[in-house]
Amino acid sequence: MNPRDSGTSNADWMARSLRSVWHPCTQMQQHESVPLIPISHGRGAWLYDPEGRRYLDAISSWWVNLFGHANPRINAALKDQLDRLEHAMLAGFTHAPVVELSERLSALTGGVLGHCFYASDGASAVEIALKMSFHAWRNAGQTDKQEFVCLQGSYHGETIGALAVTDVPLFREAYGPLLRPAHVVMSPDARQALPGESAADVARRAANALESLLQAREGHIAALIVEPLIQCATGMAMHDPLYLQLARTLCDRYGVHLIADEIAVGCGRTGTFFACEQVDIWPDFVCLSKGISGGYLPLSLVMTSEAVYQAFYDTDVRRGFLHSHSYTGNPLACRAALATLDIFECDDVLNRNRERAQRLGSLLAPLAHHPQVRHVRQRGMVWACDVVLDHAASAASFPRRFFTAALEHELLLRPIGNTVYLMPPYILDDEELALLAIRMQTVLAQVMHA
Ligand SMILES: *Cc1c(COP(=O)(O)O)cnc(C)c1O
Repeated sequence: MNPRDSGTSNADWMARSLRSVWHPCTQMQQHESVPLIPISHGRGAWLYDPEGRRYLDAISSWWVNLFGHANPRINAALKDQLDRLEHAMLAGFTHAPVVELSERLSALTGGVLGHCFYASDGASAVEIALKMSFHAWRNAGQTDKQEFVCLQGSYHGETIGALAVTDVPLFREAYGPLLRPAHVVMSPDARQALPGESAADVARRAANALESLLQAREGHIAALIVEPLIQCATGMAMHDPLYLQLARTLCDRYGVHLIADEIAVGCGRTGTFFACEQVDIWPDFVCLSKGISGGYLPLSLVMTSEAVYQAFYDTDVRRGFLHSHSYTGNPLACRAALATLDIFECDDVLNRNRERAQRLGSLLAPLAHHPQVRHVRQRGMVWACDVVLDHAASAASFPRRFFTAALEHELLLRPIGNTVYLMPPYILDDEELALLAIRMQTVLAQVMHA
């Protein structure tokens, strides 16, 4: 949509879009009652529609946007890159943006995960990590290690392989027959604490369940995949960092790879650049996507260790990792990622986010005492709570009603079931934080009593 279309009304755009565009994660019929918002431009944390209304992007446009829309610094980097090289294939060729990005990300792991393999979306990164794990064991003569383990409520993407390690019934149900089953083990979700149990106790209980499985299937399991610290898509389920430590130890003990899917929780979202840094462990694979390009261009990657890399290094072509995507390592996307890393460095983003997160938390603290609100929780730049609703009907329509009411208050928010969450870009100033906190509570009160 470009400026010359700004005379067109929202209703016209909606009608045209619904005729020809099949929207993601949507029962299209619901748009008979739920509005579809055309966006003509964005600036900072705000999105604007052609009629001039604005929306605070409090979920970073599906968790991808870190430094606002139309960010001048990322724009400048992309304009420069556009005049140099838009794309070149990455088999047999290389280019500065992909080399520099790999070096800088590797350095952020202290060189532990020094090999970066690229793709374009998160689900592909998960597929790559699963294939690499299996193939690395196979190359090492451990051909029986063919099984994967995921956590209850895990979400790792929606392609066939990624969906097989996803435990969100809504996404899985229809495709069950197509999937190769994975082992699903207890989640360390702290909300499951029994009376007297701490979050760390839940983590220990979940780790015990994991150990039972690893013991029972010893020699057959290739990898455990986890979303470190927050299982996002299932409803911002947060766990004690201890779980990651215990999982790392168990994976080492039973010869299992640990895959950290940091597609949502990476890039500073939880307070450190990688979520795993908070417990001082490194997995065998880290998957990154979403925020890595600042929310500009599709880019994902898998970072792995020297040991995994060496398992493929051979004279035999078939022992190589023969996986590719047409846009692997796209220079524009890598350049956006480099500009994103520059902002992290220049603006001391992780430290400033600590203040931002703290402020957001205190603005929303009163909700902890609300009789219909449970499990107020926060880690870094993710805040969430669960809403108790009286009637099943009211619960079923809650996310849609909340979304619509939030738009009326200039907020872009999409609850997951009865979980309301905020996952804003890392640029909100005090005024925007206050506006977000006040209006979110207004919307909540309005929707709860409807
Ligand atoms: C979004 C997400 C994915 C999938 O990424 P896509 O780019 O949507 O394919 C995988 N894992 C996690 C944890 C995610 O949040």
